Amino acid sequence: MGAKGKEIVGVDVKKLLKLLNKAYADEWLAYYQYWVGAKLAKGPMREVVARELEEHASDELKHAGMLTGRIMQLGGEPLLAPQDWYKNTNCGYDAPSNPKVNVLLKQNIKGERCAIFVYKKLAEFVKDKDVITYNMVLDILKDEVEHEDDLETILEDIKSMGR
Ligand code: FE
Ligand code: FE
Ligand code: MG
Repeated sequence: MGAKGKEIVGVDVKKLLKLLNKAYADEWLAYYQYWVGAKLAKGPMREVVARELEEHASDELKHAGMLTGRIMQLGGEPLLAPQDWYKNTNCGYDAPSNPKVNVLLKQNIKGERCAIFVYKKLAEFVKDKDVITYNMVLDILKDEVEHEDDLETILEDIKSMGR
């Protein structure tokens, strides 16, 4: 990154790169959890659920791209091997071994809650110290909050169908 661009980062860059790469690992695992979940979904409102999961998958992939961009700008390197995603993840991976829509939704809601926590902490870490990363993190956080809300709404709709 340019000298001045680096100079205005007021946090330990090594620490920041580590946190960004951990979030990057989460995004890839979330991407796959959504992507493969969308293929498997079974039960009420299957198509609505699958479409929502696909949409979220593409958002998580976009987040991975945003994180890589900033990681490289800061002179770092994104995690290069999938086994490193597993080693570095904050939120882990829940294999969609039960394809029922309500189970899939709950698994992914859990993931979104973890993501919200991770990005909230990351925002606090860079607040007033690295405006570029801060703004990027807020953009991602906004998506994760929307994701959680979308999934909760669909889950409620499905529950109310049985009443
Ligand atoms: Fe994400
Ligand atoms: Fe998300
Ligand atoms: Mg959505």
